[in-house]
Amino acid sequence: MSDIYPPEFRVDPDLPTADLFAVTSVNGKVGMGVKAKVRFQRGRLVAKFTGQLSNQILQHTLQVSPQAHLHDPWFVGLLTHSCAPNCVLDMQRLEIWALADIEPGELLTIDYAVTEDTLHRQFACGCGSSACRKWITGRREPVNEMGRAYLDGLAARKVKRMETRQAKRSATR
Ligand SMILES: [Zn+2]
Repeated sequence: MSDIYPPEFRVDPDLPTADLFAVTSVNGKVGMGVKAKVRFQRGRLVAKFTGQLSNQILQHTLQVSPQAHLHDPWFVGLLTHSCAPNCVLDMQRLEIWALADIEPGELLTIDYAVTEDTLHRQFACGCGSSACRKWITGRREPVNEMGRAYLDGLAARKVKRMETRQAKRSATR
């Protein structure tokens, strides 16, 4: 029996349980996250999820169809974003699948860009993956003004670093 969701949502016996997952705060910055307590193999079902249907985009919603969003502030809505995630969601079957081997203590991560056409809020990403897009938007929205300023700032710092490196190289020559 799931003990992560409130009682009124515990209809499916395959909903997540606290012996397999820990809902936990993640280094203050990211907010809440979900950690695996056991090992999940790549390609396997990790958990099912549920929630309340809503026509609004909220902080913890995931899009089910163009107009419908699933509000789940208990479990799947708390998953951490990564540009190289270890999980993917099946929004038709409401299932989480492992894209990589997940070890106990590891955070479950998904790519937020594939969860909503328009995100509740675009944000800067420092997930550390080599595929990091640095600024995360929904799958059908342009980078907003804040994002453009942020990305321009990153690009300017990168140019500066390259110039410094080049200057050092010509100095040692
Ligand atoms: Zn990233």
